Amino acid sequence: MIYLDNAATTRTAPEVVEEMLPFFTEKYGNPSGVYGTGREAKEAVTKARDRIAALLGAKSDEVFFTSCGSEADNWAIVSVFEALKEKGCHIITSKIEHHAVLRTCEYLERERGARITYLDVDGDGRVRPEDVEAAITPDTVLVTIMAANNEIGTVQPVREIGEMVHRHGVIFHTDAVQAFGQLPFTVDDWGIDMLSASGHKFNGPKGTGFLYIRKGTPVRAFLHGGAQEHNRRAGTENVPGIVGIGAAAKLAMDSLDEKVRQETELRDYLIREIETKIPNVRLNGSRDGRLPNNVNFSFEFVEGESLLIMLDMKGICVSGGSACSSGSLAPSHVLKAIGLSDSLARGALRMTLSAETTKEEIDTTVAALTELVKKLRNMSPKYEGYLKGIEKSETAE
Ligand SMILES: *Cc1c(COP(=O)(O)O)cnc(C)c1O
Repeated sequence: MIYLDNAATTRTAPEVVEEMLPFFTEKYGNPSGVYGTGREAKEAVTKARDRIAALLGAKSDEVFFTSCGSEADNWAIVSVFEALKEKGCHIITSKIEHHAVLRTCEYLERERGARITYLDVDGDGRVRPEDVEAAITPDTVLVTIMAANNEIGTVQPVREIGEMVHRHGVIFHTDAVQAFGQLPFTVDDWGIDMLSASGHKFNGPKGTGFLYIRKGTPVRAFLHGGAQEHNRRAGTENVPGIVGIGAAAKLAMDSLDEKVRQETELRDYLIREIETKIPNVRLNGSRDGRLPNNVNFSFEFVEGESLLIMLDMKGICVSGGSACSSGSLAPSHVLKAIGLSDSLARGALRMTLSAETTKEEIDTTVAALTELVKKLRNMSPKYEGYLKGIEKSETAE
């Protein structure tokens, strides 16, 4: 199997699993317990929290564990809105956010009287800081802009946005689920008040995440019941999971430079290979301002979904628009927002690498793509029309 869907999820690193295992078997105590094994579990949770805080340049009591990245996004947005609704009900976000952000904003708009501005992006998928600034009004309480996009990999000018948002005294949240463990930053560097991350996107276990909340940010409790997570999120801690996300964060950051170098080199090789071997393609997202592991191409005259299935039959795992929207044939909201036609959006394929991806795997994938794209185009009446000069191409230079 060749796995090129690391933006959807990653393999839990063996070192991470190893650190987690004792907390299922011998050290299974409840962190709230006062006896030895409870204390052991509590210490492990504290260690994970300290590790993540250190990586973010934050304080330990600013890190709150959640069950996933989606929960962290929901919590951040809903609770700032709740806490500040007397002050104002306006939230600014972008059209290319993950659904965990977009659907939460839509919910607040539909059910709770929020006013939401969904900002356009440029052709590379970048939010313009000046557009954010222009959208701020006296009743703006939150700006939520993702750090890097999960479909096209575009990295946002987070620092500029963060600085500017702070100048206006507004709270800034970023969904860093794709950025954490792939880009070096601290919350102070980027002027972040709240940040969401997810363990399974950086070689940690599924069902784990965290929300960073800068001290002083007005935020409500998300789950009521117990005193866990500084009284903000009740429920017995997922101790093995928390140990896992802490270990994965450390692992990702320890090897960050090497990983970025390696992935960037292979990413650019994959892009070059596709552009030289397959005609009528379009690279989606920014050419240089993208995540080190993200490649997203539209193959004209081809249905991405068909390509996906045929690659799967060859043991190659890639993704269409995004894993979350597969199953629906509606073109991705991100690809539409960067201006793609429906047909080019439907011809999109995302390939996301890991530190374990090899050049041989890339070569095998490019060979398979070259063959399959040719095959599919030969069955396309539109492609036949293009060859005869009747159909126009959207990708020809
Ligand atoms: C995967 C992802 C999420 C959701 O994280 P889960 O832990 O799977 O809930 C949110 N935002 C982005 C950008 C993602 O890529």
